[in-house]
Formats: sequence, C-alpha cells, structure tokens
Amino acid sequence: MKWEDEALKLADVVPVPPPMIFLVKLDAERRAMAKKMDTVTPEIVRMTESGYRKTFGKEATEMVQAMLRGDDVNLPEEFFEGDEGELYKIEICPAKFGACTPDKRKMISDILVPLRKKVKELDLTRVVIESVRTPLMSHHVFRFSIIGCSNCCMSPYSSDFGIISLYKPGVKSDGCIKCKACLVPCIERAIDLENDDPLIDYNQCMMCGGCKTACMKDIIQTIEKGYKVVVGGTGSRHPRIAVTAAEFTDVQGVLSVIEKGIALFREKTRDKEMSFHEVIETYGVESLKSQA
Ligand code: SF4
Ligand code: SF4
Ligand code: SF4
Repeated sequence: MKWEDEALKLADVVPVPPPMIFLVKLDAERRAMAKKMDTVTPEIVRMTESGYRKTFGKEATEMVQAMLRGDDVNLPEEFFEGDEGELYKIEICPAKFGACTPDKRKMISDILVPLRKKVKELDLTRVVIESVRTPLMSHHVFRFSIIGCSNCCMSPYSSDFGIISLYKPGVKSDGCIKCKACLVPCIERAIDLENDDPLIDYNQCMMCGGCKTACMKDIIQTIEKGYKVVVGGTGSRHPRIAVTAAEFTDVQGVLSVIEKGIALFREKTRDKEMSFHEVIETYGVESLKSQA
C-alpha cells in the first residue's frame, strides 16, 4: 500500500493511546483497501481519525490529545509501577493510558493499590519459590489482570486472577428523548426503548457501563459498582479459561478470593509441583467462592 506524504503526517497525530498507535496506519490501509484504492490519502486518514474519535468518545479523545501534547493528565502513578524482581505481574487494560472514562480508571485504581499490598503481605514471590522444583522460568510468574469494564480489551480469562470492573445501570424515570444513543454500545441488546422509560434486561446486560456513558441526558446512571473475579486461566501448552469465583463483589471480596486462592495453591503444592491453573482445575473453585 502506498501513502501520500500528507496522509503520513496526519496519521502520526491521530489521538489514540500509545499501544494503539501502530493500529492507526493499518486501519487507514484497511479503509483504503475496502475502497479498492492502492494509496492512502489524507481523506482516508481523516475517516480513520473520525472512527477512533467516535469509538473513544469526547472525554477519552481529549485526554489522549493532552497526553500527546505532553500535558500532565494526572493518570494515577500506581498504574505505571512495575513488579520488578517479583514472581507476579499485575497488568492493567488500556484504560491505564487514558482511554475510557475516569469512572473506569477509578475502579482500577481502587483495587490496584490494595491488591499490590495484599500480594506483598502474602509474600507471593516466596510462595511461588517454595512451590517450584525446577529452574524458575517465566511461566512460573503469577499473572493478575485488572480490567476497567466487561469489554475485556485485555483478556482476564487467561490469567491466574482476572478482576473485571462492573457497572450496574439503572434508569431515571421521565426525560428519555428516545435518541437511541444508548443502543449503540449495547451489543447485548439489553435495552428496550419501546415504553416511556427505557427498560434494561439484566439477564442480558454485561454491566459494561457503555449506555451510561452514551446517555447525554443522564437517564441511564450507574446504580452499583462491583468486581467479577475469575481464576485459574492460562494460555500455555494446555490452555484453560479462568472460571468465576465471585460475580459482583467489593474490594474486600476480591482480596478474599485472592487470599484463599493463594492459600490453596500453597497447600496443594507442598508435596508436588503444580501450577495455579492445575490446582484450580483439580480442586475446583468452590472453596474460594464460599469464603469470598
Ligand atoms: S476493558 Fe473497558 S476500561 Fe479497559 S480499555 Fe477496554 S473498554 Fe476501556
Ligand atoms: S441515550 Fe438516554 S435519552 Fe437517549 S434513548 Fe437512551 S436513555 Fe433515552
Ligand atoms: S451496561 Fe452495557 S450491556 Fe448493560 S445495558 Fe448498558 S450497554 Fe448494555
């Protein structure tokens, strides 16, 4: 695919979070290919930019633009702390780079700090060392994934512990103008606008918070926040999807699942080396649930 010089310049300043910058040029090429063009033009890049602006929304786009200008955007410092020298790694979804809303970053922040404290307190690195009988390798490193919403842009389901933030939507009576903006992010089709007030089907709703962000009239609001905790996932030789240990819990509930999970891991690896996902596969998740 060829590029016009002006198109290249424009692509460099499309406001997306740093890990997504490489996607901008590929998306522009995708759009050019769809139009059977062999050259990316400035017009194509403008369409690409418009697509990302719509997807991220005004708030996140402005935040990313400020970051690209080098302004201080007050992202929580703890998002960028590492776990060097430890046998665990805490990963955060792309919201850490300013994508998405402050609500989502707050949910991440609220669990991140106590989680780091808890794994230090439990001395997880030492627990892992004691469980291993072979040379320490990268697959021994415990993986925690903290996710800002159920869109799960970075999958928590292949981690040892995945923590997913949830936002239960509620409807304020009167005032819905039937603009349908809330239907756009609701891939689950959980919102019914047939009656005077919108109706949410909680059997379909994944509590992603998208409708609340989309509703400019504040008719849809978040009435409760919580975390889902999934455990025992791996993307290794025998892949396994993490299973649910808590559906909608608070910070203490998350920490309780983690504490019980690590205690189970310690107990079951006393005489035999097993990875955490093998422990969960063999002994189940019930003891973590009941005590959460
Ligand atoms: S998982 Fe949710 S909060 Fe995180 S980057 Fe994706 S949409 Fe944003
Ligand atoms: S976005 Fe808000 S105002 Fe528009 S249809 Fe949905 S609930 Fe009604
Ligand atoms: S929270 Fe997400 S899944 Fe639930 S109704 Fe709103 S947009 Fe749909």
